[in-house]
Amino acid sequence: MPFRFTPLMKKRLNRRTHVMLQSSLRLFPELQGKTITVGYTKAHLGSALIPLNMDAELTIRLKVRQLSYNTIGHELMHLVQGLSHLDDPAVSERIPSGEKPCDIWTLARSELFCDEAPTYLKLPPPIRAHWPRYARAVRALCVAAIAKRATYRLYINWLEAQIHELTQQNLESMKSGEQMQLAF
Ligand SMILES: [Zn+2]
Repeated sequence: MPFRFTPLMKKRLNRRTHVMLQSSLRLFPELQGKTITVGYTKAHLGSALIPLNMDAELTIRLKVRQLSYNTIGHELMHLVQGLSHLDDPAVSERIPSGEKPCDIWTLARSELFCDEAPTYLKLPPPIRAHWPRYARAVRALCVAAIAKRATYRLYINWLEAQIHELTQQNLESMKSGEQMQLAF
């Protein structure tokens, strides 16, 4: 059993949450064979305890109400992020520390995690307001930003500028009377 639920979480756990956790975990081969403790929080959408050594318990906390795949993915990615700095052999790439990288790597990991806008990445208000319309394009840019990071340290600035561009493109197409649609 890869998940261990705290008593407080057990009380709130429902089938939907269970299915969401299992489907999300499948996208994290780095966490296979590890036990993840899932606790409950009502203060935040979620949180994770970044593992500081290889023996550390892997723990995430989630709010069950309005739980999104994006939140689960983000918290699981924090675990991978921490493990990548401990040179865990299961983690092949080092993921930079911080909330924005966590958002970027989470969206890039799978479309499943695009069900809700990321929390920390800077998004122009129209993109936040109409997230489903932009999700795939933003995800594609996250994938590109990760590739760009190999040679360009300001990849987050680059990404946020590119995301901003998406709204400009949309504005242009509205001005010219075209139907609103994405080029992706
Ligand atoms: Zn976080």
